Amino acid sequence: MTLFQLFKRILPFVKPYRFLLLATLSLTLLGSLLAQVNAIVLDRAVDAINALVGSPDFSWSKAARILTVVSVVLLLKEVLRAGISFGQSISGEKLRINISQRLSLGVVERILRYRMAFFSRSDNAPGMLQARIDQGANSISRTIQNFFISLLPMIVSSVLALILIFAANLYVGLTALAIVPIYFWITSLQTKKLKSSRKNMRGFNEKRSGSIMTILQSMSVVKSFNREEIELAKQTELQKGYYSNQMGIRRASFGFEALKSFVNQTGTVLIIILTSYLVLTGYPGMTIGKIMYHIMLFSNVTAPISQLQRIFDDLNDALIYAEGYFDIVDAEAEVEPSGSYRPQKVKGDFEMKGVDFTYPNGTKALHNVSLKVSSGKITALVGLSGAGKSTIVNLLDKFYEPDSGSITLDGVDLREWDTEYLRENVGLVLQKNHIFDGTIEENIRYGKPDATFEEIVLAAKKASIYDQIVALPKGFDSEATLLSGGQQQRIAIARMFLKNPPIIFLDEPTASLDAIATEQIKAAIDEIKKERTVIIVSHSISQIIDSEMVYALKEGRVEQSGDPDSLYRKGGVYKDIVDASARSLNIEKLSRTISSASEESR
Ligand code: ADP
Repeated sequence: MTLFQLFKRILPFVKPYRFLLLATLSLTLLGSLLAQVNAIVLDRAVDAINALVGSPDFSWSKAARILTVVSVVLLLKEVLRAGISFGQSISGEKLRINISQRLSLGVVERILRYRMAFFSRSDNAPGMLQARIDQGANSISRTIQNFFISLLPMIVSSVLALILIFAANLYVGLTALAIVPIYFWITSLQTKKLKSSRKNMRGFNEKRSGSIMTILQSMSVVKSFNREEIELAKQTELQKGYYSNQMGIRRASFGFEALKSFVNQTGTVLIIILTSYLVLTGYPGMTIGKIMYHIMLFSNVTAPISQLQRIFDDLNDALIYAEGYFDIVDAEAEVEPSGSYRPQKVKGDFEMKGVDFTYPNGTKALHNVSLKVSSGKITALVGLSGAGKSTIVNLLDKFYEPDSGSITLDGVDLREWDTEYLRENVGLVLQKNHIFDGTIEENIRYGKPDATFEEIVLAAKKASIYDQIVALPKGFDSEATLLSGGQQQRIAIARMFLKNPPIIFLDEPTASLDAIATEQIKAAIDEIKKERTVIIVSHSISQIIDSEMVYALKEGRVEQSGDPDSLYRKGGVYKDIVDASARSLNIEKLSRTISSASEESR
């Protein structure tokens, strides 16, 4: 991204705040003007005192008048400057915070509309996206602040001081002007020299915070394997690189600062010598007061320039980060597609015909998959882990589009369906618990924002979690993230009961539940499956054998399909999976134990 492109992109964000910007700029300019007052007052004061000392009609009252005027003017100027500086800082911050907020919200608004494929790309992992958004928003808003609030007034202030020097004397002006390019040159050298180290610093920072995070999250593993020493050694190695890089940056910075200060002082000395020479040779208008005047103006020229370094650094960061930020905002092709088909009633008959599907990272997950899902029935997808079961659910919920082949719902291509309407009619319960920060009530309500509390209670009862919720000290007001995995899963199921959709996808819904809860959930699912389309992905044979239609998948292909009993009799993938599940449950021994116990009790 070039500087020009960056500013073109930034302008629309600044526009809504143009009056605030104008106010800030005016205040800063006023501040720069006031900064020149010291030089002018001092010039006059020194000359006046000088004239008084040499004059025959010297009196203390005249000296006191001069000093009073000087004090009053300087005091007034300081009071005014403090007010202006306060106003300028406040309006500048307001501008930066507002723009930063716009940038952050703008990107969230965009990505909420992106399709799932965007998020499953490896370079869009959540942490990376977040870092790119934060860094982008921060560095762009900082650039706006630097450019409009610091840089412009700095240049104006510098140029103003330069004009005053030239107005005072051409030779002194030329001397001051000669120093400026040297200053710029050293500053740009400093920026270039430190660029790669600054980049490294970012890398070190990310790694360092990431690795400490890992240790904290895996503390029990670290302890159980007695790996404290090893973790410490890893940290030591990481910190060594971090600190030596930091030291390098500091060393170079201090060197450059010293060089700039040297150039600055050389300029000051040159100006003192030149002005003194002019005073001594009786150059018209040159008085002792001018020595002070020129030095102060010269420092007004160089002081703003010495801050350029910081602005250059920030601008460099912005050029890097803004690109990442705008790449996210500009991804027009990632906006989720939607049709306009919204029938009165959704029946729930799905059909996939010859569907091939590849994930954005290149993993081909489905090969020529054809299947039918009928409403009012439970359809089970069975297969080893990685066979493509969840992928089918993802396609049916329109999270992804197939490479080839077709998917229809009630005879209409999924692409023609209004995506939002389709999802209103689908309830999805996944293996992973999707619990948001907030109370249990809020989390269940996610399924239907306008639900009454009674409806929420009913949903919790159906999901067999009500008794456990009311037993908590704060009941429905408890933090949902504090619940156990199995309890959170039932919150997710309650959310689906509340939504009450005609189509239900259950992707290993009981994988993290204990046996009792699994049984209760199974009963609940049996209860709601009537008159609905239910697709269940499960490893639990108890749920599979209850289904009316089974599709057995292997490596992205449908190997077998039919009702569970006839499929089992046929042998093959399905029978292998059922047998393995039965063996893992040790069913023979289990049934012997249960039957002998019941015989004894008879
Ligand atoms: P199952 O549900 O049967 O365990 P999946 O449908 O989750 O299997 O996965 C099928 C294949 O697709 C696997 O090889 C898996 O690694 C891959 N896969 C699943 N999700 C993604 C994703 N978001 N990005 C890339 N590959 C994926």
